[in-house]
Amino acid sequence: MLTIDLDALADNWRTLSRLCAPARCAAVVKADAYGLGATPVVRCLLNAGCREFFVSLLDEGVRLRESVADAWPRGAHLYVLHGTPGGAESDCLAYGFVPVLNTKGQVERWQALARRQGRPQPAALQVDTAMTRLGLPPSTLTRMLEAREGLSGVTTTLVMSQLINAHKPQHPANRRQLELFRRWRQRFPSAKGSLADSSGIFLGHDFHFDVVRAGTALYGVAPAAGMPTPMRQVVQVKARLLQCREVSTGEGTGDQGPWRATRPTRLATLSLGPVGDYLGGEPQGRLRVAGRALPLVSRPSQHTAVVDATEMDAAHLAIGALLDLVDEVQDINAFAEATQTTAFDVLTSLGSHYRRQYQGKLPL
Ligand SMILES: *Cc1c(COP(=O)(O)O)cnc(C)c1O
Repeated sequence: MLTIDLDALADNWRTLSRLCAPARCAAVVKADAYGLGATPVVRCLLNAGCREFFVSLLDEGVRLRESVADAWPRGAHLYVLHGTPGGAESDCLAYGFVPVLNTKGQVERWQALARRQGRPQPAALQVDTAMTRLGLPPSTLTRMLEAREGLSGVTTTLVMSQLINAHKPQHPANRRQLELFRRWRQRFPSAKGSLADSSGIFLGHDFHFDVVRAGTALYGVAPAAGMPTPMRQVVQVKARLLQCREVSTGEGTGDQGPWRATRPTRLATLSLGPVGDYLGGEPQGRLRVAGRALPLVSRPSQHTAVVDATEMDAAHLAIGALLDLVDEVQDINAFAEATQTTAFDVLTSLGSHYRRQYQGKLPL
């Protein structure tokens, strides 16, 4: 069971908005709002005052936009981070989405659309200031701007780039990307600028420009591992107990490795979902369940984990019981730290496995 606290989510948006004012805080709601449910998340954030949203895909945008049609105010913007797939430009336009143009081909197809429409069309332009990710490499963009056609037909309303090391505040790449981005921002004086993701927001005002793009921070994740955070916790997770077994000294667990009981042991099998794949690489790992750090007796696999629950009160171990997995003590940050992946992967895999329930004010 995944409980999502919408009041905490709205508070987090307000906290980030205060932190980055006068810049505006956009919400990144790709991947079904990181597994938490794009429709209720966007309704909640619209209600709190958020007006800029980012999804990855055009189809995601279409589904989302239709599910919140009655609540979508004039002046709200939905950006499509991966831009439009070739041939879908007119759909993007029909929905009023702003595509993020990342490649020369995407720019050219948006220009062709503008010619067909007989007037320039708004778009966001992503510059790759780290030479690694999505976005137009600076050399490509320079050549395009120098060409006779330039960017005619494209009204650049937002210039953006993505930081690659914002979760490491001291990393020199942050300043380098900032300087490069500043120069590109100046080439588009009437566009808004956007550089910071969640971690970038905490690098300071220099990084805020006009719009920040918050994903994980909205959902309660700290800006960097171990760093104090002003964000409220949004998710709680209870894992279902699938099975309980008593094994005697010397017995092992199936084919999953060398574990053998050194005393009479109570084993509990929990339904974890794909997040299990990220947990506890070492056999000596522990998983905090129902407030106790229990030894993992095998590497979690096939969406389950087996823990040694001998120390647990048998009263907690009824088959089907829901046991705290992400709670006040082991919050999403601690839980993500116990895994070998990103908070994004943890949230989306929790969201795909557990039944979601919402608490707090859910606007209609
Ligand atoms: C996903 C994404 C973000 C949000 O990142 P968080 O670390 O979750 O805040 C911002 N910008 C772009 C381009 C993204 O793809």
